[in-house]
Amino acid sequence: MKEIKSTKEITRGTTTFKITLIRRDSEIANLDGDKLEIKKYNEFFNIDVIKDGKTLTWSAYRPFIIKNRTKNIPDNAYAELNNQCYLSEETYNILNNIINEMYAETESEEIIIAMKIAEEKQAKKEEAERIADAQYEKNIKNGMCPKCGTWCYGECEL
Ligand SMILES: [Zn+2]
Repeated sequence: MKEIKSTKEITRGTTTFKITLIRRDSEIANLDGDKLEIKKYNEFFNIDVIKDGKTLTWSAYRPFIIKNRTKNIPDNAYAELNNQCYLSEETYNILNNIINEMYAETESEEIIIAMKIAEEKQAKKEEAERIADAQYEKNIKNGMCPKCGTWCYGECEL
């Protein structure tokens, strides 16, 4: 298993942002109780917002730019870390650059391969769902009962 970890801290005024990124190319599953390593990209991401030595809040997601402004959002807020923590444009840009750097630094051949496998699996799953949906639509058009999923011609309701 390839695991790459990166941790960075940045202090803005009296607030420290501690960012953790762990990326793995596989995970451990078990078959009949035996441990198996399966290729599966996964990552752990976290930002801790620390003030006066205490964790004020945290987020498992990258900060994002605010698109829908509501009255409750502070005027200088440019981005959101979570629903109680907003960021100015300057802080957002600094954090975003650091996070991009962390992703770039933790890239490896194994990680890229695992990500590609995960993407292909997802694409195959979506394609199978699309085909199943199309087949279902076709069956309904051809008279399949949506309640019981057979050609009962309404008998299941009797
Ligand atoms: Zn039926």
